[in-house]
This record gives sequence, C-alpha cells and structure tokens, in this order.
Amino acid sequence: MVTTETRREELKEVFTEARGCTRCPQLAATRTQVVFGAGNADADLMFVGEAPGAREDERGLPFVGAAGKMLEELLAGVGLQRDDVFIANVLKCRPPGNRDPAPVEIDNCQEYLFRQVELIRPKVICTLGNFSTKLLRADPTGITRLHGRPEIRVVGTRAVRLYPIHHPAAALYTRSLQDTLRDDFARLPGLLEQPEPDQPETEETEPPDLVQNATDPEDHEDPGAEQLGLF
Ligand code: URA
Repeated sequence: MVTTETRREELKEVFTEARGCTRCPQLAATRTQVVFGAGNADADLMFVGEAPGAREDERGLPFVGAAGKMLEELLAGVGLQRDDVFIANVLKCRPPGNRDPAPVEIDNCQEYLFRQVELIRPKVICTLGNFSTKLLRADPTGITRLHGRPEIRVVGTRAVRLYPIHHPAAALYTRSLQDTLRDDFARLPGLLEQPEPDQPETEETEPPDLVQNATDPEDHEDPGAEQLGLF
C-alpha cells in the first residue's frame, strides 16, 4: 500500500539522487549545493519557481531571498505558511550569475520535478512565472496571457489543477504586478476547496527509472539532514 510515509521516504530517495546529480556539468561545478525543495511532503498546494538564486544556493532552500519574502507575504495574505505547501523549482541548481535556465538544463532536471509531483500528489500546482508554466503546460504560451486562469492538466502521471501566476521576483521590479499577484493569490483558497481532478488510469504504475535506480539510503550516511528535515 502506498502510504504518506512511503511517499515521503521515496521523496528522500529522489533527493539523495538529485543531490549528487552531474547531468549539467556547469551547474554541478558551480553550485554550492542542490536546492531540492522544501515544505510539506503531503501538501495540497505546490509552488514551482524557476531556479535557485545566490541565497538559495547558499542555504540549500528555495525562495529564501527577496522573492521568497514576497511569496511568504502573499501566502500569509491567504492564511497559509511555508509549512503548509511544498516549494520547488524547475532547476535544482543555481545557474551562475542568475542567468536563465538553458533548455538542456530544464530537460536534464525535469525528471526530479515530475517525481516530486508524483510523490507529493498536490491538488493544485501554482507555477511561478514563465519557465515553470511553459514546462508544466508543455506549451510556449507566456505567463502574461495565462496568469490567474486555472486549468486541469496532467503533469507526469498526475492530474492537477495547474494555476499559473507571475513570479514574485517580477513583482519586485514592476509594482503594478503586485496587485495582479495578490488578486491571483486570492483565488487560491477557492481552488484548494475544489475536488481533486480525476486521475489518469496509469496512476499506480511502476515508478520511473530514477527511483528504481536510486541508491539505497541504508548504504549511506543520512543525506543532507538539514534539507530532509524540511519535508
Ligand atoms: N527564484 C526562484 O525561481 N526560485 C527560488 O528558489 C528563488 C528565487
């Protein structure tokens, strides 16, 4: 039986795999550490940003800089805290100089995000900005057209209510976006009250290779205990 605890244990295995990842040689060489994601591993609501910045790379946690502060304020505005949700990024490593993620990096990293979605089983995924919106919708339509409009989408093996909104960092630089973000956030509680979408029939199929090949945690020291304590 797949329990919350077994899903959490599998999430730790995916983290173990990700934290030693060298699929993107440049990112592996320049990162301080992998920023896997943090929060409630059984959350109904998941946020997906772009990639860690300098502060996140330093601390090993997503959204801990200025954009993170804004995200926390927006969450508080709808009665939520970081611990209520799971926060991840498209890329788990910081692109040097905060450059945009390269297509090959997104391709290399997406498997970790899809596994996170499969194991956390959120009802709602809120994509923050263009990179996560385009990846999870598998479509190049930009955030300006899509923000604030929820839709049911299959992400990996899970059907979710996908809810694109602007990236909080964009609102730091463009004040008018702050009101838009707040308005879009205000729809989140209502979305979370909606029933989970019907799941595709393949839901309980074999896990992809990543987890089958994951190293046995028993064979290693507790990986990244600080990060693991966060989900
Ligand atoms: N911006 C992101 O997209 N992710 C972070 O973790 C921090 C800033």
